[in-house]
Amino acid sequence: MKLGRVASPDGVAFVAIEGPEGQETAREIAEHPFGDPTFTGREWKLADTRVLAPILATKIIAIGKNYAAHAAEMGGEAPADPVIFAKPNTSIVGPGVPIVRPPSSERVDYEGELAVVIGRPCKDVPAAKAKDVILGYTVANDVTARDQQAHDGQWTRAKGYDTFCPLGPWIVTDFDSTDVAVTTELDGVRKQSSRTSLMLHSVGDIIEWVSRVMTLLPGDVILTGTPEGVGPMVAGQSVSVSVEGIGTLVNPVIDK
Ligand code: MG
Repeated sequence: MKLGRVASPDGVAFVAIEGPEGQETAREIAEHPFGDPTFTGREWKLADTRVLAPILATKIIAIGKNYAAHAAEMGGEAPADPVIFAKPNTSIVGPGVPIVRPPSSERVDYEGELAVVIGRPCKDVPAAKAKDVILGYTVANDVTARDQQAHDGQWTRAKGYDTFCPLGPWIVTDFDSTDVAVTTELDGVRKQSSRTSLMLHSVGDIIEWVSRVMTLLPGDVILTGTPEGVGPMVAGQSVSVSVEGIGTLVNPVIDK
């Protein structure tokens, strides 16, 4: 199932998106998409809605250096254990919403990533049980002020600006994420191209590691790390992140 959130002619709603590409229907979900969603009976053509970020997370946890080739391009080896950091939920924006480069940074990078959306409250989840707590998967761009990441020595500012976590266009449930392509294009030029099978820590291992620290809540988002090929974006460009089997997340870039 494809789960999304749209601004429809009747207001903002969670929806199930059905039908062939270009002719999709958005069926309104009553309340929220967790558990066993029920439907109101209202529906719209997806083209008549504006697609929003598919979820409003209470927190975003991200994994650093989860692909060896990206760790190498950052000038080191990947650490043995997952390195995690947080992005504020206020950094989330949906498809088509501009990524705003702050005047305080001279280099703002794209990082295309597979994102996991949590489906129920959980703590201390063994890797083998991780699929039980996953609602589905979406596409993320872990936008980073690279100069500030280096300057600060920790990453809250560099990763935390408003608009620095584009998510979408929707969540795909019942999805096998173990070996799918992750690609990023800047103005149509391929910049990142890898596969999730090259992740150093699997989704199950990541959920076990993170949930050992903190309770995860429905809608929380975990970014699984970016492959090699990161680089800067400037105002006027358009960045597209695709995950095979999910979709493509496109955002323009502007200066504040
Ligand atoms: Mg990242």
